[in-house]
Amino acid sequence: MADIIQLLPDHVANQIAAGEVVQRPASVVKELLENAIDAGASQIKLIIKDAGKTLIQVIDDGKGMSATDARLSFERHATSKIRTAEDLFSLHTKGFRGEALASIAAIAHVELKTKQEQDELGTQITIEGSELVSQEPTVTPKGTTIAVKNLFFNIPARRNFLKSNTVELRHIIDEFHRVALVHHSLAFIMYHNGSELFNLPTSNFRQRIVNVFGGKTNEKLVPVNEATEVLKISGFVGKPEFAKKSKTEQFFFVNDRFIKSAYLNHAINSAFEGLVKDGSHPSYFLNLQVDPKSIDINIHPTKTEIKFDDEHTLYAILRSSVKHSLGQFNIAPVLDFESDANLETPYAFKNKAAAMPRVEVDRSFNPFYDEQVSRGSSTHYKKEPAVQWESLYVGLESKGTRANQNFSELQFESDNEMQSMFDDDASETTSRSTYQFQNKYIISAIKSGMLVIDQNRAHQRILYEGLLKSMTVKEATSQQLLFPLELHFSITETNILEQLKEDLEHTGFIFSEFTEDKISITGVPVNVPHSEVSIILEQLISDVEQEVPDSNFSAVDLLAKSMAKSLAIKSGQSLTFTEQEHLVNSLFACKEPNVSPTNRIAFITMGVEELDKKFM
Ligand code: ADP
Ligand code: MG
Repeated sequence: MADIIQLLPDHVANQIAAGEVVQRPASVVKELLENAIDAGASQIKLIIKDAGKTLIQVIDDGKGMSATDARLSFERHATSKIRTAEDLFSLHTKGFRGEALASIAAIAHVELKTKQEQDELGTQITIEGSELVSQEPTVTPKGTTIAVKNLFFNIPARRNFLKSNTVELRHIIDEFHRVALVHHSLAFIMYHNGSELFNLPTSNFRQRIVNVFGGKTNEKLVPVNEATEVLKISGFVGKPEFAKKSKTEQFFFVNDRFIKSAYLNHAINSAFEGLVKDGSHPSYFLNLQVDPKSIDINIHPTKTEIKFDDEHTLYAILRSSVKHSLGQFNIAPVLDFESDANLETPYAFKNKAAAMPRVEVDRSFNPFYDEQVSRGSSTHYKKEPAVQWESLYVGLESKGTRANQNFSELQFESDNEMQSMFDDDASETTSRSTYQFQNKYIISAIKSGMLVIDQNRAHQRILYEGLLKSMTVKEATSQQLLFPLELHFSITETNILEQLKEDLEHTGFIFSEFTEDKISITGVPVNVPHSEVSIILEQLISDVEQEVPDSNFSAVDLLAKSMAKSLAIKSGQSLTFTEQEHLVNSLFACKEPNVSPTNRIAFITMGVEELDKKFM
C-alpha cells in the first residue's frame, strides 16, 4: 500500500491550533491585551463591536515591531519572548508560545499597523485566513494596532456556536478585568459599539479595583500584605459582610497573571470560615509574587492554570495572612479606614462638581407607619434578614395597615375544583384545617388524608406564577416611592440589569435613572418592600450570571424565578393560621402547584390508607 501520511499544510495546522487558543472573542481580547503589555505599553485601548464578532481592536503605545518582525509575528512558534527551553523557567512576559497571532490570523481578517520609535515609517499588514493579503509601509504612531475582524469567518460551525452578544461581551469584560486589575499602573480604555465602558487611568491597586467595580467597593476592601521568602502577597479581600452570591469578584494573580486555582480558593474560603454564610463568596483581589522558577505556566493553552512547586506552603501562608488581615480589621475597624494617600478621587468623579455632603437620614421614616414599610434608608443600604416577610405575603389581609398594599395583580381566584379537595368540615371556621410543623411545613387535612406542604417552595410557586402573569400581561401596579432609591452597581452589573430593565418594569419597577454605575428607582412592585429591593436585584444579577438567559422568554422566566426566590417566605418563619390557610389556597390556585419554580416538590400527600397501614 502506498504511503498515506502527509504533513498538514500550515494554514490547516494553524486552524487546529486556533481551536485551542481561541475559543471565543474574549480569548482574542486576552491575547492581544497581553501582547500589548509585553510590548511595554503604558496606554492600551480596546475597541469592540458586536461583542467582538465584528471587531476586536487593540491599540497600544508599546515598542512596536520592525517590518520583518511584523511579518514573522504571524508565523506559528514565532516569538521574541523565549529563545531556549531554559527561558521557560524565568518568564517575565505573558506570552511565550508564539501561537496567538498565528492562530488568530488563521480564523479571522487581521490588520496590523506597527512602528518602532526610531523608525520613520511603520508597517501595515493584512492577513485573511493565514494568507498574506498585503504588506506595505504606512504612517502610524509608535506602537501597535491590531484589528481582528469577522472572527471564525472561515469556520461557520464555530461562529454559530458563539453565544448571544450579551454573553460574549460579558466574557470580554471578564478578560478585560483580569488584565486591567493587576496592571493598574497602565491606563486602559474600553469601548463597545462606540460607547465607553471603562476608562481607567493609571492608579494603585485599590483605586483600580474601585474604578472597575464602582465607588461602593472602596469601603469593602481589607488590605492583605505579606512578605515571606517564598511568597509575597499584596492585595485585598472583601469584608465578610459584603460576600456575594456570585463568584464574580474573586481574582488571583500570580506574577501579574490571572490564574484559576481551586486549591488556593479553598485557602481563602477556609480563612473566611464562620464569617460568611453558606452560599456566599468572599471577594478577593490578590497578587502573589513567586519565583518564576517555582511555577509552571505551561500546562494550559490559555495559561490560566499553573502548577506550583510547593502548593502546601502557599496554601498555609495565604490562609494565615488573610485570616490575619480579617482579624485586624475585626478588632480594630479603624485601621482599615486609614485614608490611603494614593486613593484620590475616583476617575469618574473628577470632572464633576463637588456634591453637598450627605447626611444619612431615613427620609421615609414615619412613626405612624407600619415598621417594615419605612425601613431602609434611600441611600446606603445594609442587608437585613427578611424577617418582615408578612409584607411580602401575597394578598394577605390580616394586617390592617397593609390592606392598601395588597398586590392585586398577584391575587388568585381560588380554583373551585381544587378547593373541593379540602374537607368541608375541616375548613369550618371553628376547627383548624392547617397546622404548621417546625416552622417549615404546613400540614393540611384533605378528604382522603393529609398534605405536607413545603412553605418556602409553595410560596415561590405562588409568587412565580403571579410575577409571570404580571410580566406577560404587562399591567403590574407600582408603589411610588417618595424619595428615589439610589443603588450603586458595577458596570457589568448595570449591564445585566439593563438587559432586564423592560421586564423589571413589567413587574412594577420604575427607573428614573439608569447610568453605568447607578440606578435610581422611583417605584417598586406593590408587594416588594423598599428594603428588599437591593437584595432582589443582587440576587437577580447573580442568577443571571449563573444561568444565562438566551431568549427573551427565558429572561422573563429567570426574572420571575429569581424574584420569587428572594421574596418567598423562608423556612423557619412562623405563620399564623390565616396565613397558613391562605398559602394553601393560593398554592392550589396555581397552574402547577406540585412543584416549585425550580422543579422541586412543593408538597406530598399521605392517604388515610397509607396511614392506616402504618398502624397495622
Ligand atoms: P507570544 O506573545 O507568545 O510571543 P504572539 O503570537 O502573541 O506570541 O506574538 C508573537 C510575537 O509578535 C511576540 O513575541 C512579539 O514579539 C510580537 N508582538 C505581538 N504583539 C505585539 C505588540 N502589540 N507589540 C509589539 N510586538 C508584538
Ligand atoms: Mg502573545
